[in-house]
Amino acid sequence: MTKIILVPIDISETELTQRVIAQVEAQARLDDAEVHFLTVLPLYPYYATLGARYVADLPVMDDLETDAMKKLDEIVKQFALPEDRVHKHFAEGAPKDKILELAKTIPADLIIISSHRPDFTTYLLGSTAAAVVRHAECSVLVIR
Ligand code: ADP
Repeated sequence: MTKIILVPIDISETELTQRVIAQVEAQARLDDAEVHFLTVLPLYPYYATLGARYVADLPVMDDLETDAMKKLDEIVKQFALPEDRVHKHFAEGAPKDKILELAKTIPADLIIISSHRPDFTTYLLGSTAAAVVRHAECSVLVIR
């Protein structure tokens, strides 16, 4: 059976570590896997504090999604993967919730995630990565 891999990507990270790329490529090759990339725009909590009125007419949301998908496209290009095995997703909300939700829907056999952003060297495991490790129902490969 084809394996399904989920790779959450934080587009605000300036550089994706080569280790993530290498691991995703290697895991994908193992069983001709489908690779799903997901980026989450953690906007909602901020707008929610402004009140429902603003949430209802967010004119910029479509633009933000388009920009985020463009950035995701650029990042995904760095991965040497067969095009027909690659899927890209966008969500808005709490990154950890959206990652866990999509992992259930696709459903993922494996999530590959970085432990934290490369420049935050004081943390061993970022909060998103920690929540995913703790709550995912599938295996999680944490890249350090
Ligand atoms: P840090 O706090 O150091 O940024 P995180 O746990 O937030 O650590 O990030 C670790 C990894 O979690 C990222 O490399 C990415 O794979 C995933 N991640 C974090 N934020 C997002 C996001 N907004 N969308 C998708 N994935 C994310």
